[in-house]
Amino acid sequence: MKELKILYLYPDLLELYGDYGNIQVLKYRIEKRGLKPIIDRYCINDNAPDFKSYDIVFAGGGADNEQSILSKDLLKYKDSIKEAVNSGVFFLLICGAYQLFGKYYKGVEGNIVDGLNVFDYYTEAITDRKKRCIGNIVIETTLNGNPYKVIGFENHGGQTYGISNPFGKVLYGNGNKFGDTEEGFFKTNVIATYLHGPLLSKNPGITDYIIKYCLDRKYNENIILEPLDDSFENACRNQLLEKFKNPQ
Ligand code: GLN
Repeated sequence: MKELKILYLYPDLLELYGDYGNIQVLKYRIEKRGLKPIIDRYCINDNAPDFKSYDIVFAGGGADNEQSILSKDLLKYKDSIKEAVNSGVFFLLICGAYQLFGKYYKGVEGNIVDGLNVFDYYTEAITDRKKRCIGNIVIETTLNGNPYKVIGFENHGGQTYGISNPFGKVLYGNGNKFGDTEEGFFKTNVIATYLHGPLLSKNPGITDYIIKYCLDRKYNENIILEPLDDSFENACRNQLLEKFKNPQ
């Protein structure tokens, strides 16, 4: 039976706004295709994971305090994570994790949290706790050449600069910074985004993009994923897209 290995980073610290749901959706849609998901969790001071042996590495959102707590531990893996990204392992990074893969994150107190510098963007929070990008958000991305609307929820003080390739164009909401036209960061094997939701529960097309990418890479095939009945997800999406169709 074909299998996909998933590494879930800091599930006890990067767990804001139900981001764990992304793991549940990946597991569900992998199993629905008769495939086997293998999910490992990594917490601070656990044995060093072999990042390159995984198909997907996932990390969710986190408050400033938790980002500071785990930063020192995460930096231990700077080189092996870079190697894994360059070898094609898929990284799904939400909000706080997205920020920590850049050069640095400057928190709301002005404290600098060193990032992995895997990518050359950087993030600085506005030093006013009341000024945060909070609310529903819709962006449009392109997956395998096809446009796809991505629906989510954002809640971040951090404003991200220096993005070379955004995940999508903002149709509703803020994005990488207040009033931005771009959101997130995207490479073939990296989706880094501010979208909570959880992201994958509202966007089945993203989940299937990740699963197909990983299967094609692992088994050296051009796999056609068996379509699932997404009528419920699509009904919810259509209702939300209707609700948020006019920019603020
Ligand atoms: N602490 C970071 C910020 O406020 C990330 C928040 C999050 O992960 N939702 O921007």
